[in-house]
Amino acid sequence: MSVLRLAIQSPLRRLFDYLPPRAMSEDDVAALQPGQRLSVPFGPRRVTAYLVAVCEHSELPLSALKHAYAVLDESSLVPATLLRLCDWAARYYHHPPGDVYSAAFARPLRAGKAHKEAGAAGWRLTTQGMGLPPGALARSPRQAQALALLQASSVVSVEKFKQDGVGPAILRQLAKKQLAQPCILAQPPITVISHPGLSLNPEQAETLRALQQAQEGFSCHLLEGVTGSGKTEVYLQLIADCLDHNRQALVLIPEIGLTPQTLQRFSQRFDAGIVVLHSGLGEAERYRAWEAARTGSAHIVIGTRSAVFTPLRNPGLIIVDEEHDSSYKQQDGFRYSARDVAVKRGQLEGCQVLLGSATPSLESLHNVAAGRYQLHRLRQRAGTGALPTIKAIDIRRQELRAGLSGEVLTAVEEKLQAGQQVLLFLNRRGYAPTMQCHDCGWTAQCNACDARFTVHRHPARLRCHHCGAATDVPRQCPQCHGSSLITAGLGTEQTEDFLRQRFQHWPVFRVDSDSMQARHAMRDLVSLINEGKPAILLGTQMLTKGHHFPAVSLVAVVDADALLFSADFRGEERMAQLLTQVAGRAGRAEFPGEVLLQTHYPDHPAVQAMLNVDYSDQARNMLTHRQDSGMPPAGQLVILRTDCSDATWGADFLQSVRSEALPTLPAGAQLVGPLPSPMQRRAGMYRWQLILLARDRKTAQQAAGTLVSRAEAAPARRGLKWSIDVDPQDLY
Ligand code: ADP
Ligand code: ZN
Ligand code: ZN
Repeated sequence: MSVLRLAIQSPLRRLFDYLPPRAMSEDDVAALQPGQRLSVPFGPRRVTAYLVAVCEHSELPLSALKHAYAVLDESSLVPATLLRLCDWAARYYHHPPGDVYSAAFARPLRAGKAHKEAGAAGWRLTTQGMGLPPGALARSPRQAQALALLQASSVVSVEKFKQDGVGPAILRQLAKKQLAQPCILAQPPITVISHPGLSLNPEQAETLRALQQAQEGFSCHLLEGVTGSGKTEVYLQLIADCLDHNRQALVLIPEIGLTPQTLQRFSQRFDAGIVVLHSGLGEAERYRAWEAARTGSAHIVIGTRSAVFTPLRNPGLIIVDEEHDSSYKQQDGFRYSARDVAVKRGQLEGCQVLLGSATPSLESLHNVAAGRYQLHRLRQRAGTGALPTIKAIDIRRQELRAGLSGEVLTAVEEKLQAGQQVLLFLNRRGYAPTMQCHDCGWTAQCNACDARFTVHRHPARLRCHHCGAATDVPRQCPQCHGSSLITAGLGTEQTEDFLRQRFQHWPVFRVDSDSMQARHAMRDLVSLINEGKPAILLGTQMLTKGHHFPAVSLVAVVDADALLFSADFRGEERMAQLLTQVAGRAGRAEFPGEVLLQTHYPDHPAVQAMLNVDYSDQARNMLTHRQDSGMPPAGQLVILRTDCSDATWGADFLQSVRSEALPTLPAGAQLVGPLPSPMQRRAGMYRWQLILLARDRKTAQQAAGTLVSRAEAAPARRGLKWSIDVDPQDLY
């Protein structure tokens, strides 16, 4: 008797054995393919399972196994390489395999819905219908008309019937007589046309040539090109080549906000099937895109993080744009890095992978140094733009208005008068980060987190940016009942209010996650900005990532100090990346760009580095430091975290995991902790962490496996949750 080994979405890090559905013959069982979905009983529920393998034996007695209810797909909907990728990811990230496999399937399929081919609904004749002599249904003219239409062409869309006045009732009557049946119309194949690209400058041409030479089989490349150096143009021309070979291109981008812009550039260049995949889409839209990628009718698939698991019929190229961006790492649940998964996928699919960035991650630079990735560099801006000049503004003892110095305000005014746009970067949303009592010193704190409430004005609320809690703004101090409540610090709303008053003749566009909540808000705003009329753009990181705003000639970093003192080992890297990216928004077209950094610490090494050293040299210095300290990418990090409403249970749990794991820990691995997380209480939960630092990937994998099995074996206390994070982004 064969046993089906299945992946099922559950918190358990293992596969599950089932017997085939009762009615199924041994031959049919033998013909099953990995990836086919089944419905199975799982506890009291009926759930979707993914076939991983058909086996001869089970570790459990056969009598203990349940039968699956049914096989849901006639054949596997996803290619075998993608299943192998899921298998790898489940092992590498020590994540429950069912959760990982489900990432390869569109949501309705995870829920067990029948697979529907994409395409228009239509009708065709049955064999019986085909044999009918013309004029057979003369007594019912409507049906005769439908029949004539069907006999004239083999399939007819519902749409066409509707145009000719044939409604669904008539068609149902034909179906009842077994003369016609519904079907899905195959989509006509699109002839791909690539419109000619720009003529490349020598650096771009050399890069493209090198990439084209390596287009067969797996290879991984890092394109390190300063902001505006024409990386996207290189992507487009490489994709044209990929499409010429009848293969698909997968393009990952970090932010939903970038999709309209990316889509526009791609659809201007290519007449081809282009789909986008991101969480902002409706379910039906997303399903269609997934299906188009799977069947190959989409030639180019553009998507955010989770799109790395999209099935592709014939992939030829995977591009990860802005590869350094931390949003490629999922921070909860299945904590994978889409960049790293993309590289693994290229390896399994045997196709080229291209990582691009103006500010590559130290991980990728490390891989270049180790000879794993090939490096290509674009050192100059393409086209007309020159790299911006950067200047620090010492704001010590200066009068600031809504955080802005006189020098910045003058510069803003000049640019607006000259018909250009300015971009002010302030990485804090809300009106002010603190509400305080001037009489007694009370501050408004979130009840559930070790954090202060942020004051919002539009609408007026106190909001916690960590757990989402919100409350009314108090009129008097809850501690001394005084009425001298004041705000301290600065957020985008406050600066926006000021700018609107000060620059009444020009529009102020605020871009942060509060102002951009509506579905198409970002798309609409980007096209408004790109009309190029003078305007002030004020925003958080959301505004700075990868956007190409040709009319921006001045970028001001309102609070550079906020970036200077990070406790995280990646703090310096992040700051350099962020500032370089922000600065890179200036002067991308005909107007020369200027960048002003407001700081109280003009002599701080990180500020000096921004002014005098380019990112590329800075990054290589930082890499040397990481090598000395053994931190990633030189060493490997894994964190075991706990979350519990009790203040100390997490520490007890991690302590016991630690002492159980220590005797079997491989050489070259060390444990630090348990330590409280930097923000220890969040959303009412106390958080602890046990940090594993290993000298290489293999050691880290082995040690992480030990930690996970000890954690699984440790006595569970009610309400304590733990999770493992391989290659964490942050130490919290
Ligand atoms: P990146 O992706 O590196 O930030 P982009 O591809 O957005 O850079 O290019 C920046 C600008 O330079 C765009 O307006 C683009 O049209 C232009 N550009 C790129 N390559 C060339 C080229 N070879 N000749 C002229 N203009 C170019
Ligand atoms: Zn008070
Ligand atoms: Zn909170």
